[in-house]
Amino acid sequence: MTTQRERIDLQLADATPATESAARVEAGVAAKSAVAGSKTNLFDLDRASLERFFEETLGEKKFRAHQVMKWIHHRYVTDFADMTDLGKALRAKLEQHAEVRVPQVVFDKASTDGTHKWLLGMDPKNAIETVYIPDKGRGTLCVSSQVGCALNCQFCSTATQGFNRNLSTAEIIGQVWVAARHLGNVPHQQRRLTNVVMMGMGEPLANFDNVVRAMSIMRDDLGYGLANKRVTLSTAGMVPMIDRLALESDVSLAVSLHAPNDELRSELVPLNKKYPIEQLMDACVRYALRKRGTSVTFEYTLMKGVNDQPQHARQLLRLLRQFDNAVQMKDAAKVNLIPFNPFPGTRFERPDDVAIRAFQKLLNEAGMIAPVRRTRGDDIDAACGQLKGQVMDRTRRQAEFQKHLHAQGLGDEAA
Ligand code: SAH
Repeated sequence: MTTQRERIDLQLADATPATESAARVEAGVAAKSAVAGSKTNLFDLDRASLERFFEETLGEKKFRAHQVMKWIHHRYVTDFADMTDLGKALRAKLEQHAEVRVPQVVFDKASTDGTHKWLLGMDPKNAIETVYIPDKGRGTLCVSSQVGCALNCQFCSTATQGFNRNLSTAEIIGQVWVAARHLGNVPHQQRRLTNVVMMGMGEPLANFDNVVRAMSIMRDDLGYGLANKRVTLSTAGMVPMIDRLALESDVSLAVSLHAPNDELRSELVPLNKKYPIEQLMDACVRYALRKRGTSVTFEYTLMKGVNDQPQHARQLLRLLRQFDNAVQMKDAAKVNLIPFNPFPGTRFERPDDVAIRAFQKLLNEAGMIAPVRRTRGDDIDAACGQLKGQVMDRTRRQAEFQKHLHAQGLGDEAA
């Protein structure tokens, strides 16, 4: 594992600068407004882009954008006519140029343990899932970033669906809006939604710009007011994008490790062939070093007889210790042990509780805190790795997406 600061700086310098993605949004918004009859979906815009939309497209003061954000994200009002502190003329202008397009709730289901799942229709052929998980004093929303997923991790149900397309910023923040409204969440007052994890369907770093913009709305006081560390992005390990994230956002990072050596990890997470463990751990070190005191969470799904043996725990420990040493902070690496959640057709099994405890004990005895994630919402197929949504027409688009990834040098040769 590399620890030299020079290498870190070099890698960060290589990543795409922040301003580029913002410029692309602006161009997109402008192009959209220029098309006669098309309206800008305000869910697509974070504070900076909404201010520009008010100033440049509507010729209004930017504080109006702040009023509108509060109506939408704090009071769940999407009809401009009901935004009573805006003048009549402005409301008419908004009606003409903008809309707030809410995802369609195809169905929602409550689990006996308080978990709640929504199936949200994004277009006539595609739906995704969002899950709310209440727990002592906190409420976590698990948000999807793509319709399906192209990474083909062997133990994940979403992979069996294939990949169709990226979700827009509006479709990502729309999930938060639907859940927050259902919960009667009021940012800073009645907090029912305290955390967001980008751990639903899809690979968030493969949909970078839309995810980063949506996370900015989640963290904005005029949006959902979540602290940076309460928004977590989980990745299967897209190394160059982890470096870009370090430049553009300040959220918590979770990495789906699942195996402590390349041979096994390449089998379970095919992306590992492109970005093997050493490169991935180096990127995590760079992410942690960007800001003092940052920890990184490593997710480890335990599968019976596959990655749950004592030698795996020992190899895992070595990786985590190397990480702590490289960032010069004790307990910088956190592990989440996730017992495998089965789904129809899978060849994997969940280890029994004795094996799970034994694996955990090995880590604990070496001083590593390694909580076992409680399975939640499995009676409604809402547990980790059980989200499927509805993905249609996927074959052609999957091939296109793979081409796109290859063009960026991010493709998974094996998939
Ligand atoms: N693509 C991202 C985001 C998806 S998060 C990523 O890989 O991190 C999905 C998380 O769900 C993964 O970390 C994994 O820990 C977990 N997961 C996937 N399938 C699972 C399964 N069948 N059982 C338990 N956890 C699973």
